[in-house]
Amino acid sequence: MSDLLSRFPRVPLADLPTPLHEAPRLTETLGGPRVLVKRDDATGLALGGNKTRKLEFLLGRALAEGHDTVVTFGAVQSNHARQTAAACARLGLRCELVLTRSVPRPDALYETSGNVLLDGLLGARTHIVDGADEALALLAEIGPAYAIPPGGSDATGALGYVAAGLEFAAQAADLPGGVDRIVVATSTAGTTAGLALGLAHAGLDTAIEAVCVYEPAGVTAATLDAVLGATADLLGAPLPERRPRVHGDWFGPGYGVPTPEMVEAVRLFARTEGILLDPVYTGKAAAGLAGLARTGAIGPDETVVFWHTGGAPGLFVYPDALTGAGAS
Ligand SMILES: *Cc1c(COP(=O)(O)O)cnc(C)c1O
Repeated sequence: MSDLLSRFPRVPLADLPTPLHEAPRLTETLGGPRVLVKRDDATGLALGGNKTRKLEFLLGRALAEGHDTVVTFGAVQSNHARQTAAACARLGLRCELVLTRSVPRPDALYETSGNVLLDGLLGARTHIVDGADEALALLAEIGPAYAIPPGGSDATGALGYVAAGLEFAAQAADLPGGVDRIVVATSTAGTTAGLALGLAHAGLDTAIEAVCVYEPAGVTAATLDAVLGATADLLGAPLPERRPRVHGDWFGPGYGVPTPEMVEAVRLFARTEGILLDPVYTGKAAAGLAGLARTGAIGPDETVVFWHTGGAPGLFVYPDALTGAGAS
């Protein structure tokens, strides 16, 4: 690993490097850009995902600071919470998850299956709450703990994606012609911010297309700027000259709310490459990839990497959207 990251405590959790797969049938179906898929759904920790890379640095720090309890926050179906629970199990840390009902899904399936089912199996204590007041009251009850923000997106967590950017640069060096663009789902933005800094440090000018899935484009762009600034400060590195472009067109009515384009994209990846996306994050990002290719914003001669950030456990709590009328 480069000197850039060697001074930060890190605990190994992910199987790295993750594969970078050609996607020839997807490429053919999109009728244009050559598509590859970076498989961060295959980080190997309890069904994997992008939070595993962040947790290497976050829990590295928690251990270095002598904590025995970790608390983190998310939606009821948070992939971040599930990966935190798994990492804590592996490291023998106590894990408290404060999960907020932030998606309009009052049904029992949403609160018992998918990620939240796994949280319990992995030994975490889950607390489902309606809002910030309840969450704060819980924090007092939980007591001293290493607190990880939603999505693991502080500067320390984003270091995991600085490392991913360096990892990717080494893989891209073997591709004749290089990689023109990366398309990635963006919510709390640590993934996108870390990647932008890692690619810049490696000297790559690959463009990043950040597809909003959590908040509309304006809010997401501000979140991204804040995480970029904090992470650059922590690294003592300059801000990247080439900023990620933030797209709000595939967000739909809200976080965790299905769109027809998402369903279409989940089916497209499944049926052309046997790759499972998810309804909340990667399905909407892949809808962005398809949309940008269709309009020519991603040119037919380009090479584009779809950065798969995980999330497949979420498929099991969206049976109606994925199998319902109009979704075949
Ligand atoms: C959290 C998450 C993202 C978004 O990552 P951020 O760093 O929060 O922007 C994307 N995809 C999946 C599957 C996630 O769980």
